[in-house]
Amino acid sequence: MTCSSNKVGYNSKEEAEEALVKARARYRHGPVSFYLCQFCGMYHLTSKGTSDVFLNSEEAEQRIKKEQEASYWEARLKNGF
Ligand SMILES: [Zn+2]
Repeated sequence: MTCSSNKVGYNSKEEAEEALVKARARYRHGPVSFYLCQFCGMYHLTSKGTSDVFLNSEEAEQRIKKEQEASYWEARLKNGF
């Protein structure tokens, strides 16, 4: 499904959360929240506004940490270590 916002759409809240966690693990100034789009009915990430309640939760913090560790090892393996 395409959206006039040209943003990636996520079918469920869980998918949007997962994408948000991955984005936060990679970029310091990435998206801070997600919203349900009224045009396409899918979830989009957004860097506008204040941090989502989800991002401030202990659960999100743990998931971001895990994701960062995972990508750290991924990068090391790629570099032949
Ligand atoms: Zn949309």
